[in-house]
Amino acid sequence: MAYTVSKLTDYSAQALEKAASDCLRACSDEAAQVRTEAQLKAFRDRWMARKNGILTQINDQWLKGAPKDAKREAGIRVNELKTKIQGLVESAHVAGSGEALASETVDITLPGVRRPIGAEHPVMRTWREIVSVFQKLGYSVAEGPVVETDYYNFEALNFPPNHPARDTQDTLFIAGQQEKPQRERLLLRTHTSPVQIRTMEKMRPPIRIIIPGTVHRNDPPDASHSPMFHQIEGLAVDTNITFGDLKGTLDHAMKALFGSSVKTHFRPSFFPFTEPSAELYVTCFICGGSGKRGSDPCRPCKQTGWIEVLGCGMVDPNVFEFVKDNGYDPKKISGFAFGMGVDRLALLKYGVDDIQLFFQGDVRFLQQFG
Ligand SMILES: [Zn+2]
Repeated sequence: MAYTVSKLTDYSAQALEKAASDCLRACSDEAAQVRTEAQLKAFRDRWMARKNGILTQINDQWLKGAPKDAKREAGIRVNELKTKIQGLVESAHVAGSGEALASETVDITLPGVRRPIGAEHPVMRTWREIVSVFQKLGYSVAEGPVVETDYYNFEALNFPPNHPARDTQDTLFIAGQQEKPQRERLLLRTHTSPVQIRTMEKMRPPIRIIIPGTVHRNDPPDASHSPMFHQIEGLAVDTNITFGDLKGTLDHAMKALFGSSVKTHFRPSFFPFTEPSAELYVTCFICGGSGKRGSDPCRPCKQTGWIEVLGCGMVDPNVFEFVKDNGYDPKKISGFAFGMGVDRLALLKYGVDDIQLFFQGDVRFLQQFG
């Protein structure tokens, strides 16, 4: 029968002595029966658990139940018993474990287990390459929050109040903010551009920054879309910055990224925060601009020989108006900005045809880049 703590009615010296020795014997017997780690744990818990362990029960039932004149004697006895039981419990061990250890010898001359060396993810590698091209041009890296306010993500970037990007169809808003004024509503940033405003609020011109980051859009995942992707933007503001500076900078960056033989080509476009705006095309670095791979059509450039790599333009004076007080008077300064999708460039660069492969964590896919 497992030992249980019984109430004491007799607090004479002999009765206390007997109760204590019964308890001690039970504990010692149980310790001898321990055969496994699980049993050892159960044994320790049964005796020592702060909540309802046997020692706690003894404390509660024997000490607190003692009549006034017997309290002191009972206290001494119980303390003695506790010390002995603690000793038993602490020295208890899994029977036979000592012998098992002796037989488990290790051959130290065997070769060790070699851990495979990891490799940089293709998206992160592309990210780092792009950032480093601009760092060498003197740009510094700026970062900002992924959860943004409508103000930084849209308003300060010259998006009109009814712009479709502000619709929940396109942007992931944080729930339950209907009460807030629109400009304070939180959302997952849809581009890294809010960091341009945040940086201009903190730093006076001239600035040259490169902004890598994670962005989100309410796009169902498919071969070319992902609700989460990576962007890198750049911003240069100074006196007398012209579209020529933008062209020269990006032409240099594309040659550094894709090889010195690529040509660049700008086509007019529209973005709310730049005016004029352009899309930058580079000669297809897969077919070299011919549109063909041997006798087959080149798919990545759709046989045109050109691939669109980024959007860019001169910063719209309306954007500078939001940070005018910090030295960005659009009459005195000018600047250019550009932004590109890192994942898309990684797809093109490594000839991958499904963006989902980047985020599925399949080692067989990732190993190819090791
Ligand atoms: Zn091509």
